[in-house]
Amino acid sequence: MADLVNSQTHKKAECRRCGTCCRKGGPALHGPDAELLSGGILRARDLCAFRAGELVRDETLERIVPLPGELVKIAAPHGSRPDDWTCRFLTEKNLCFIHGTQPIECRAFYCEAPEALLALSGKDSLDRKAVRALLKAPEWWDELMDAHAEHCAYGALTELAPRIADDAEARRAFLEIVEYDRAFRELAVEKKAAQPDELDFLLGRPLLRTVIMYGLDARPQPDGGISLVQTSRNVREEVKE
Ligand code: SF4
Repeated sequence: MADLVNSQTHKKAECRRCGTCCRKGGPALHGPDAELLSGGILRARDLCAFRAGELVRDETLERIVPLPGELVKIAAPHGSRPDDWTCRFLTEKNLCFIHGTQPIECRAFYCEAPEALLALSGKDSLDRKAVRALLKAPEWWDELMDAHAEHCAYGALTELAPRIADDAEARRAFLEIVEYDRAFRELAVEKKAAQPDELDFLLGRPLLRTVIMYGLDARPQPDGGISLVQTSRNVREEVKE
């Protein structure tokens, strides 16, 4: 993220432009990034949302924790593998496609002095509704976010996930949420409420992809259903600690 200026010391960082930090994930957006959204540099299709309660690795605590609030980040390129977090603006030559207008996290970060980036964590984060307003996207997108969240909250999935192996009702309820999320996305596109490449921002990443955070593999079946296979128990045990 940095061929950049360390915002704390105001000294030019000795960035080797290796691109490693940009491959670990795009930056989360904060208040100072508002002009990138209102000025058209970042569009809804460049972004993805991490919804409240989504399980993420906290590098400070060195364990998986539920996100206390929502984050909006620059997404990986469309069609990339689920485990590829590379920022979509990193070019093949390790250059930043929006160099000069990078979000504040990129300007603050220098891998050998990460304190400036850590200081931004949780400060003045932009959530989806704030980003939606800055993008001047339709106001009724807010209602879609709320309607989707009402049925697809990560809190409910996190409560159900540890029980699905032994409790048929918990498994049914878990699958119902994953199926609702899939159907909601299909309907949003069918009704032309959003483009397919805007859904990772509008509704967060699909549950079909993210339930892997519970050690589960969810796959659509030819009969229209979804299969759910437990692949690991480690993640959920770490969360319960
Ligand atoms: S916006 Fe540019 S500097 Fe920031 S992570 Fe993406 S490629 Fe790297």
